[in-house]
Amino acid sequence: MSILLPTSTAGSLPKPSWLAEPETIWSAWRLEGDALIEGKQDALRVWLQEQQQAGIDIVSDGEQTRQHFVTTFIEHLDGVDFTKRETVKIRDRYDASVPTVVGAVSRKNSVFVEDAKFLRQHTQQPIKWALPGPMTMVDTLYDAHYKSREQLAWEFAVILNQEARELEAAGVDIIQFDEPSFNVFFDEVNDWGIAALERAVEGLKCETAVHICYGYGIKANTDWKKTLGSEWRQYEEVFPKLQKSNLDIISLECQNSHVPIDLLELIRGKKIMLGAIDVATNTIETPEEVADTLRKALQFVDADKLYPSTNCGMAPLSRAVARGKLNALSAGAEIIRRELKA
Ligand SMILES: [Zn+2]
Repeated sequence: MSILLPTSTAGSLPKPSWLAEPETIWSAWRLEGDALIEGKQDALRVWLQEQQQAGIDIVSDGEQTRQHFVTTFIEHLDGVDFTKRETVKIRDRYDASVPTVVGAVSRKNSVFVEDAKFLRQHTQQPIKWALPGPMTMVDTLYDAHYKSREQLAWEFAVILNQEARELEAAGVDIIQFDEPSFNVFFDEVNDWGIAALERAVEGLKCETAVHICYGYGIKANTDWKKTLGSEWRQYEEVFPKLQKSNLDIISLECQNSHVPIDLLELIRGKKIMLGAIDVATNTIETPEEVADTLRKALQFVDADKLYPSTNCGMAPLSRAVARGKLNALSAGAEIIRRELKA
C-alpha cells in the first residue's frame, strides 16, 4: 500500500431504508428480483461515494450485497438445506435457528464475484472484499452429514479458495475472512482453524486478512463482554500461531475495548488492521480519540504496517452516525500521518 496508514472499515455499513430495514442487523430485503439487484448496486454506489467523501483509502461494498455475513454465502452452496432448521448455540453465546448440512457441500457458481466486478468498475482505489471464514461458517450450521467440525471446515476452505481466486481475478486487492469464532474456540483454532484458513488463501497473490472481533453491539455480545473481566486476553490464545501463518493482515478491535494493547507484540511483523472506531455506541469518536488509539498501537506496530479501521461492521448504526465515524477515522489517521512526517 503506497499510502501511509491506509484507512478502511472492518465490515458492513448501514443499509438504506429503501433496501432493507435500517438500524437492524440481518434485516430482510425490501425489494426482490431485478429491483433487488438494482437496489443493491445503488446502495453500493451510495456507500462507495460516502467512503470516498470521508477519505477512506481502501473501500468496500459495505456489505450492501448481502443480508448476513455468513448465511448469504452458504445460501449459494449445495449440500445445505435451508428448510431443515435446528437450534444451535452460536459461538457458545446465543441460540439461533440455523440450516442443516445434509450432503457434500460444494459451490455451484461464484457468489460475490459479479458484485466485486461492479465495485471494481466504479473505483480505482484499492478494494477489500469480505468472506466468512471456514470455522465461523461451521459454527453457523447444524451438521447432519460430516459430523465433524474439522472436516466441514476443510470442505468450506476449499470452496472459499475457489471464490477467493475468482475475487482476486476480478481485481480485489484484499480478501478478508471474518472469523469471530477465533475469539471463542481456542483449542480448535490452534488445532485446525488456522490451518483451514491457510487452505482458503492457498495460491492467492492478493493480500489476505483475517478479522477477529468481539462482534456487533447487540445484547448477546455486550452481555458476553461483561463476563470477560477487566482485561480481554482472548487474542493471546491465537496470535502466536497466526503470527506464523501466511495471512498478511490481522484485523482486530481496540477502540473502547479491554484488549491490552501490548498483545499486538505477539503478531509483530504482520500488518494490523486496527479497530479505532467503536461500533457498539452511537457516540462518534473525535479525531483526537482515534489518533490516541493509533498512537498507542504504534508502540507495537511499525507505521508502514498499521491500517486504521473500525472494530467491526456498522450495519446496526444510523447512516449519519456511520458517516460521522468514517470522517473521524479519516481525520484521526491524518493527525498521525502528520506527526510521523514531522
Ligand atoms: Zn467483526
